[in-house]
Order: sequence, then C-alpha cells, then structure tokens
Amino acid sequence: MSFLIWTGNPFVDSGIAAILEHRRKKVPDDIDNDDLSAMSELLQQMYITDKWKKNIYSIFLNHPLCQPSYKTESKKREKFKEFLDDLLDGTEQLGDMGDCMACGRRNTRKRKNRQHIPMTGSGGALNFFSFTAEGADYCDTCAYAVQCSPLTYYACGKLAMLHSNSPKVMRYWAKRSLADVQHQIALNDYKGCFNEGYTNPQNALFHITQDLILTYEERWAEENATIRLYHFTNYIQGPDMDLYDLPAPVFRFLAEVQAHPRRRVWYGIVRRGYYFVKKGAEISIQVSRKSEDEYKNSKNHIYSRLLADKSILPYFLNTRKRVAYGDYSLLELYLREILAMDKKRIETVKRVADEIAVFIRSSPDGKKRLRNLEESIKFRDFCNVLLRISRGRRKMKPEEPLFTLDEFAEQLFPDGALTFGETRYLILFRLYEQLHDWLLTEGLTEDETDDDVTEAGDGVSSQTEE
Ligand SMILES: [Zn+2]
Repeated sequence: MSFLIWTGNPFVDSGIAAILEHRRKKVPDDIDNDDLSAMSELLQQMYITDKWKKNIYSIFLNHPLCQPSYKTESKKREKFKEFLDDLLDGTEQLGDMGDCMACGRRNTRKRKNRQHIPMTGSGGALNFFSFTAEGADYCDTCAYAVQCSPLTYYACGKLAMLHSNSPKVMRYWAKRSLADVQHQIALNDYKGCFNEGYTNPQNALFHITQDLILTYEERWAEENATIRLYHFTNYIQGPDMDLYDLPAPVFRFLAEVQAHPRRRVWYGIVRRGYYFVKKGAEISIQVSRKSEDEYKNSKNHIYSRLLADKSILPYFLNTRKRVAYGDYSLLELYLREILAMDKKRIETVKRVADEIAVFIRSSPDGKKRLRNLEESIKFRDFCNVLLRISRGRRKMKPEEPLFTLDEFAEQLFPDGALTFGETRYLILFRLYEQLHDWLLTEGLTEDETDDDVTEAGDGVSSQTEE
C-alpha cells in the first residue's frame, strides 16, 4: 500500500518529485507517513522566509502565509502549520478508486481552491467549476503534495514548472532544484525558487533540458521524454499561464547531439539564432562580443522554431559565405530525429551531392553550375541545372548516371516542389562541406569553422563568430 503515484497532474507530480528527492526515495510507492511529515518541517523552514513568501504570493491565493488578516508573523506561521497539519490529518493510502481529479484513487474530503492548488478557481467564483461546485475535487494527500511542489519551481520572470512523462526527468529536475534549496539552507540565505537569471521561458526550457542531459548520465536518447514547461503566475491581479512543449524527437536530438563529436558546432548554430528587433527589423546578436548573461534572454530562432515544429535546416549552412556548419553526420541527426527523414533519402541526396561536387571540381563549368544551383530558388530552375550537370557529366563518361528516375521521384523530390527546398539545402550543405578546400583555393569562401566555439552554458564567449 502506498500514498502516492505519478498522476499526470503537473502540480501533484512536481510535489511528488520534491518529496522523493528530499527523502531520498526512488519511486512514489516508497513514500510513507514519515516522509510526508518530514516535508512539513522543510516547508515551514523555507516558505516563511521573505523571498519564498514572495513566491508563495504568486503561487497560492489567500495562503495562510500571505493572509493580511493574520497580523503578525507568528500568527501566519501558526496558521500555516495548522493548514499543513489539517492536510496531513486527511492523508490516506491509495484506494481502488475515488473522485480526486489528480489520483482518482481517493475521495475529496473538502473541495480545494486557489489557496491549495495554483491556477484553480477561488471558491466564490461559482462558474469556474463544473456544476457550479465550490472548488476542485482534490484529495488531501494530493493537495499536500501540491504544497511541496514550489520547491521544484524555477524563477523565470513569472514562475516555471517542469513536467515530463519521464519519471527520470521529474526526479533529476527535483534533484537539481532541491540542491539549490539545500544550498540556501547551508548558507542560511533564502533566495526563493531556483533562479539562474532566465526570464525567457523558451530559452529556459532548452537550458534546463540540456543541463539535465549533460549533468546526469542516462541513456537519454532512449527515454522518449517529452517536457512541458508551465509558465505561470497565480497572482491575484492577473493569473496567467503559457505552455511550452518540448516534443520527444527534439529531446532525443538534444540527447544525441551531446554525444556527437561536433556538438560544439551545434552550440554555434544555436548562438547564431539569437536576435532582437529594432524598428521592426530583426538584428542578429553578435554573441562573441557579449557574455552569456547579456544574450541568454534574447529571442532565439532555433529554439522557437524547434518548439513550433518548424524546420531549422537553413541554419545549418550559410549560402552567402558558402559555409556548412558541422558535417553531414551532425546534420543527419537532425534529419533523422526531427524531420523523420528516412535513411535511404538521406543517403541518396548525399551520394548525388558528392557526384555533383566531383563534377564542379573538374569541369570548366563547375563554378557557374554551383552559382546556378545557389540561385535557383524555384523547383523547375533547380531541376534544369541538375539536368545541365547531368549532361556535362556524361561527357566525362561516368559509370553511373547522376541519379535514376526512381531516385529523382522517390528520394530527391518525393513530393515534388514540396520537398524541393529541403533537398536544395541538403545538396548545398554537402557541396560546401565536400568542396571546402576547393572553395578556399578559388577564393569563393572564407575559412570559418565552429569547432572553437566553447561549450554552451559556460558563459565564455566564442572566438570564431564575427
Ligand atoms: Zn488524489
């Protein structure tokens, strides 16, 4: 018999993760009565401090610690203890079923409101709840877990709460945030929810995810984790919540990229994605001239496009400078994991681009054809250039054609004009990669590589970006 299970309710699950970490338990099943009581002591130690109390203001409404009618600090503390004791008295082990909207395994003793559960209605606003009920159906055990959840929240302008389908992500995130809680206790310096100076929730989501992957060794690529960041305030004047979802393919890609030999190139691609808007125009941020703190809250094209399920393929190359960032195997990670491109297509495009590279190097028309490919932004024009290259190649008596009709229709441009842009970027990427030395000799590119870009998150600026 046990008190808690993962529920899928982010507030309850965050509280469970905090209890697991503080009590050094592995799974919710292991949490016992002593663990629940011990949390009460930690909450009374943390939440009564000024900075934490300020956080509590924007998490719970009319919380005993924030009630103006309790005039003295000692009264607030006394009422907070009563509040926790009351919930603790109502805790019970999981049954088979119940009306609690989080666990579904216990019944509601008293309906809960914004005092107990963030972002729910206050009892008075009758039309907030179904059937004009005065509050939400939560059992006391789940409501008690919710009281523990702020220990894992992240200061991010408003507050951010991380929720994942992966218990590993939940536990490691609690480990990260409660390490900060322990640090505050050790220094007797209470600073409120874990704060690393992020105010941009999208950037924070990527920072946290990357940090978890790098700090805790796990087979993350196999975890199939999705992460949702709830960016919210329950502040009385204007409760508000935004959601940011990091899908499993993006998580897998981030995990695999960390193990890739050219991972620093990826950090470089991300860094080139920072921008700000001035007079309606987007201006890239030259991050090499700034410390990480100066740009980490700026908007980032890479992050926002990944979260919106939009392609970031164009960011892997620079057609103006004729530079490919990273190598084809790094790009392949992105193609495979996020664009879900099949292996045969990835290989065929690579082989065709390699043949074109050989042609460009050895033909007197080479430079012209490269320019033609770069300038062809329409499907028909691009196909015409490929046709010309194919004809030019025939004069060199190659053993195989540039591509077969099947390859053209099924791998190069499987949906015709729809996949043309994608294929064009892949071919150009591979050409710049394969022809790099030739382009340098011909004065057609600059020697720009990203391998010297320092590890992301270390706050040291890059030496190579302009
Ligand atoms: Zn419950």
